[in-house]
Amino acid sequence: MTKNVVIFGAPGAGKGTQSAMIAEKYGLKHLSTGELLRAEVEKKSEIGKQIDSYISHGNLVPDEVIINMLSSVLKQNSQTAGFIFDGFPRTTAQAAALKTMLKIHGTEVAVMLNLKVGEDELIKRLLYRGISSGRSDDNYETIQHRIQVYHNDTAPVKDFYVKEGIAVDIDGTGSLNDIFKRICAAMDALA
Ligand code: AMP
Repeated sequence: MTKNVVIFGAPGAGKGTQSAMIAEKYGLKHLSTGELLRAEVEKKSEIGKQIDSYISHGNLVPDEVIINMLSSVLKQNSQTAGFIFDGFPRTTAQAAALKTMLKIHGTEVAVMLNLKVGEDELIKRLLYRGISSGRSDDNYETIQHRIQVYHNDTAPVKDFYVKEGIAVDIDGTGSLNDIFKRICAAMDALA
């Protein structure tokens, strides 16, 4: 059965780390829009330069750019058993577009895992990650802005999936393995 998963949560909630573990255990393709965008920035293409400016200021890349990017990745991977979407959707427009795009491929989102972590812990984790990540957006000022953008633009996406009846809250604190166990319980409860 095709199982598409959306992993949701604020910056620093652990989406990337847990996605990699879920992808391996459940045979899903891990799609991180942040990773795809950073790869484009690395190419130093014209669009890469524009993307870099959004990312390094902690702003969202425009919906149109993201949706077009996702649409072509979905087409390239149409034989995949299922995807784990990490860092996408980040706006309700993206959530609606994802629903439409998956429908075209005869599939849908099975579950939205909402990783819940308190703000102090998020900031601590992101500052710690910044020491080694080399990411242009893991500094105190940009982290504050990214959390604000999350509250303004991304948090409403949760309601989209609550209305669809597929949102599951996961306690995102504790050890990686404890968090992963909670996620597996939610995944295994899917039909
Ligand atoms: P992430 O790696 O998910 O933390 O994303 C890093 C940055 O990439 C974000 O702060 C945004 O600037 C950009 N980004 C990643 N995914 C999206 C998305 N779905 N929509 C808009 N911007 C995105």
